[in-house]
Amino acid sequence: MFPVKSLTVRGHTLELPDFFPDATKGVIRACSADDITTAGINGIIVNTYHLLTQPGPTVLEQFGGIKRYMNFPGTVISDSGGWQMFSLIHRSDGMGTISKDGVTFKKETKNGTFKHKITPEKCIQTQFAIGADIMICLDYFTPENPSPTDLDISVKRTVEWAQRCKEEFDLLCRQKKLSADEKPLLFCVLQGGRDKASVEKCASGLRKLNFDGWGLGGWLFDENMDLDLDICRFYHECMEPDKPLYALGIGNPKAIADCANIGFAIFDCVLPTRDARHKRLYVFTKPADQIDFASPEKWYDYIYIQREKYIRDFSPISEFCDCYTCTNYTRAYVRHLFEIEDTLAYRLATIHNLRMYSMLMAALRKRL
Ligand SMILES: [Zn+2]
Repeated sequence: MFPVKSLTVRGHTLELPDFFPDATKGVIRACSADDITTAGINGIIVNTYHLLTQPGPTVLEQFGGIKRYMNFPGTVISDSGGWQMFSLIHRSDGMGTISKDGVTFKKETKNGTFKHKITPEKCIQTQFAIGADIMICLDYFTPENPSPTDLDISVKRTVEWAQRCKEEFDLLCRQKKLSADEKPLLFCVLQGGRDKASVEKCASGLRKLNFDGWGLGGWLFDENMDLDLDICRFYHECMEPDKPLYALGIGNPKAIADCANIGFAIFDCVLPTRDARHKRLYVFTKPADQIDFASPEKWYDYIYIQREKYIRDFSPISEFCDCYTCTNYTRAYVRHLFEIEDTLAYRLATIHNLRMYSMLMAALRKRL
């Protein structure tokens, strides 16, 4: 029995589980808001770090938020920006610094060097300016292969920052006089890597703060780069099961089905849209509503549309897909568009992959 079947936020009810593709900079590349909703997508996730840089929170606030700005009627999650800043700072020297008070990053843009400090309070203020329905606390990412000191710092700061985020969130809701129907939701993120004692410690600190939902954080892949389902299950046990649980950054269709089976309800990932632009298109091996997710059979595959065998293939990308692309165009034509590097290729391929994900989520909702 799936624990949380739906989620109502700011007047919209979302059936769960559901998938939120990444509209990082306020757009799913090459697609209009109509393309996204027609593909059956109910919500998107935008990136606080990128929107803080361009167009900036004051532009979005003046416009009444990202939904009006990009003309998207569905549910919007804004991430905390923490993961991008951490990954940028860890990846290269000179990108910024991390302290107990937050993250300071530097970014070169065409308008000059952009330097900004994100504190937990600033993170929430920015997400209010974005106008998201679901906001995420700034968390302190547990790195891959953490030392005991890394684990301690990650857990301690994640809880401290979550408390500061919650206080700022409550303060802004009061200042803006938001009614229960107008209030966004605030999710915390559970950290602790693959060290169970650290995860438990982090969870016990977060539980006291009474968030609207929980996010799965940290690096949870095993040595083969497969998602470690045992540790995902443990994270799930440490969360509050009567609240919506969000598996951040997950994932491929199999990982989503596995995590939904554990009880996670919200997913986001760059895969379907990024793969589409790299000519990797998802196909089910049977109609989505006939998939037995518990069976070991392979229920989806990829086609690599650049292959020569598709030059004269006049079938749709997938015989089990009803998307705009599959209804109107052939594999041969989509391949041709990629060959001549026309931007329509990105649009048609992305619409198709998004529809495959929305059909997957509908099938999971029916089964769980
Ligand atoms: Zn399709």
